[in-house]
Amino acid sequence: MQKLQPVRGTHDLLPETARRHLHVIESGRGLAERFGYQPIDTPIFEFTDVFQRTLGETSDVVTKEMYRFTDKGGDDVTLRPEGTAGVVRAVLSNGLLQDAPLKFFYAGPMFRYERPQKGRLRQFHQIGVELIGVARPEGDVEVIALGAEILKTLGVGGQVTLHLNTLGDAESRAAYRKALVAYLDGRKGELSPDSLTRLALNPMRILDSKDAGDKQVVADAPRIGDFLTPAAAAFFASVRSGLESLDLTYTVDDRLVRGLDYYCHTAFEFVTDALGAQGTVLAGGRYDGLVETMGGPPTAGVGWAAGIERLAMLLAAPPSAPRPVAVIPVGDAEEALAFGLAHRLRLEGIAVDIGFGGSMKARMKRAGRVNARVAVLLGETERARGVATVRDMDTGQQSEVPLDALARHLAVFR
Ligand code: ATP
Ligand code: MG
Repeated sequence: MQKLQPVRGTHDLLPETARRHLHVIESGRGLAERFGYQPIDTPIFEFTDVFQRTLGETSDVVTKEMYRFTDKGGDDVTLRPEGTAGVVRAVLSNGLLQDAPLKFFYAGPMFRYERPQKGRLRQFHQIGVELIGVARPEGDVEVIALGAEILKTLGVGGQVTLHLNTLGDAESRAAYRKALVAYLDGRKGELSPDSLTRLALNPMRILDSKDAGDKQVVADAPRIGDFLTPAAAAFFASVRSGLESLDLTYTVDDRLVRGLDYYCHTAFEFVTDALGAQGTVLAGGRYDGLVETMGGPPTAGVGWAAGIERLAMLLAAPPSAPRPVAVIPVGDAEEALAFGLAHRLRLEGIAVDIGFGGSMKARMKRAGRVNARVAVLLGETERARGVATVRDMDTGQQSEVPLDALARHLAVFR
């Protein structure tokens, strides 16, 4: 037997944390629905090809971070490192494109073999949205606005800032890449080994490097903004004015690139400095080439994903658990009566906790531990008279209530 520990980089979500996660998911789902985004749920593992081809053979996720294995039937499969590839695969598998534009919201676990630290896990969770089949810049504005609204609803809007950049179209990127490589070639000696590899395979990734030396080199590198084609510049201008018209403030950060290969035009991140190094809580961008990479027709797309762990840490107070009614039989003879009563109250919509066994004192202690609002005590005298003693756990006040009036009486505590 393995030692009784979860695998490194994975976490048990104990009730208080699980409640924070659910709050993030429910808030996200509710707002997504208001914006017209439908829930979707795809498998947590796919054929490896789904990720390998779309995320880019040279991306960190594909080269270092995938949980990839061959199953008993010999299929090469991978636990999903992110949500977009699976959603796009599902769109194609199910022939959904004819109904474009498509709007989806998802939530669930993702898996990346990374070095675990605060806010960085091997099994983590994301909420995310995808808008597929909209090439207009209003699409980018809509998904960003939805992200901003979710953050605001969660009460973390004041702790995050929106960073925005454009990666341009293919032509802009080709021109920029050439200038960037020329510049970086001249300062090769100062680059980290990882970035030397990136220089050969995917130089724009160097802009995103977390290495201190790389960062210094990057500070003086050419800027994408100077290489945009008129069309790409116009697209970016529309996204910016769209955000401004919705009163969404942002800062342009021309070092912002996304870690995955499929992005073009808009890239954005909501960043906080409240979480140390792992400050990006929500990140996304436009991925017009992705559907085609997967074998579909040319189709525009834009979306984002947010780390639930990071959002959960930012929530000021966890949403409070409902305070139950504790039903407590005083002696063995009242067990059955108490059990039946608890069930009837639950059917009336009242949250009820039963401790199952133990002395009266132990049960009162449990009532305190589950933060019961009231305790309903059933003893011999109560049973004989068809009443219960209702004790207000906050004030200590007690009153007698007939059993058949109990549900009505307790309704105020719902
Ligand atoms: P980073 O630069 O932090 O590695 P990334 O670019 O790999 O982020 P994305 O793929 O854009 O991240 O994922 C979107 C969001 O998911 C991130 O902003 C973050 O909130 C969350 N996230 C990504 N990887 C992890 C992880 N290993 N553990 C926890 N949350 C994560
Ligand atoms: Mg990463």
